[in-house]
Amino acid sequence: MTQITPQPGIMGIQLYQGGASHVDGVSNVLKLSSNENPFGPSNAAMEAYRREAFHLHRYPSTDHKSLRAAIGDIHGLDPDRVICGVGSDEIITFLCQAFAGPGDEVIHTEHGFAMYRISALAAGATPVEVLERERTTDVDAILNGCTEKTKLVFIANPNNPTGTMIGGNEIARLADGLPDGALLVLDGAYAEYVDGYDGGASLIDTCDNVFMTRTFSKLYGLGGLRVGWGYGSQQVIDILNRIRGPFNLSIAALAAAEAAIGDTDYVEKCRTENTRWRAWLAEALAELGVPSDTSTANFILARFSSRTEANSCDEFLKKQGIIVRRVAGYNLPNCLRITVGDEAGCRRVAHAVKQFK
Ligand code: PMP
Repeated sequence: MTQITPQPGIMGIQLYQGGASHVDGVSNVLKLSSNENPFGPSNAAMEAYRREAFHLHRYPSTDHKSLRAAIGDIHGLDPDRVICGVGSDEIITFLCQAFAGPGDEVIHTEHGFAMYRISALAAGATPVEVLERERTTDVDAILNGCTEKTKLVFIANPNNPTGTMIGGNEIARLADGLPDGALLVLDGAYAEYVDGYDGGASLIDTCDNVFMTRTFSKLYGLGGLRVGWGYGSQQVIDILNRIRGPFNLSIAALAAAEAAIGDTDYVEKCRTENTRWRAWLAEALAELGVPSDTSTANFILARFSSRTEANSCDEFLKKQGIIVRRVAGYNLPNCLRITVGDEAGCRRVAHAVKQFK
């Protein structure tokens, strides 16, 4: 029999286990495990999606020109330095494929998003985990973890699953201190939730060793369509475009994303609601003896007294039809990550945790 052997590293990747969206025997399930927008996509995005149903026999645009122009307009960026991908997951994959191979190191933080490690291993590179301080990215630890083999440093800001954020000066200090040839990737999947934060865009214009990834899956409510994007120097964008499949995004996804980013009133409404109910939920849980760090994103990381308590609360919530995320795999075994829902959703969570307690 033929022996099929993957490249070393692949078998170190665990199969993805998350994503449950139903509970046996419960009809009104509240899914708060994937940081989705509780209000869904805007009507403008839905209309654009439906309109494209008439063109499904056509291949989509290869250069994503219209969507890149819309992104450039809204964020004040050069559209020629924007690349679109199948979720920001695909941009992360491209970065690892393009810049990290066998013998290279890819840095990610202790409580950092799982795709950094997976993509590094899939590219044949070595993922290097650095510790955080008080569940917040520690720039000194990252700088100490760098070697001449470091090719990529991934930071989510705000971070998932902690919800914490580091400031612009710290990011600039990190960019400045990286070894030659290393690229700092600022993952801004949750950047839109932070008032006045540009995800690092202005830093990119002065530091060509910085790159930013963004997504339509969170604030724009389009997780199911898989649209993300990246912004960086012309040189990095040109390299990434060489490995991007020509038809990586579907017609419907491109149209819906473009409409979604243009519906600024709806986006603003979702952002305001999130800020309001995030504060309410954090306070309600804290009063029940379940604290969390100040979150800047659309979820909170609820800290229980032990792993056992966190797991039994998770089980209890599930029986009530509420699905949240265990984050033991992120080295946070006593925590549950809870997406901020709408008002009814947040009240339902607080009520259920009170019953549990
Ligand atoms: N980065 C972070 C920090 C995330 O939490 C997520 C989604 N959970 C992603 C990237 C990927 O998002 P998407 O592929 O849906 O754009």
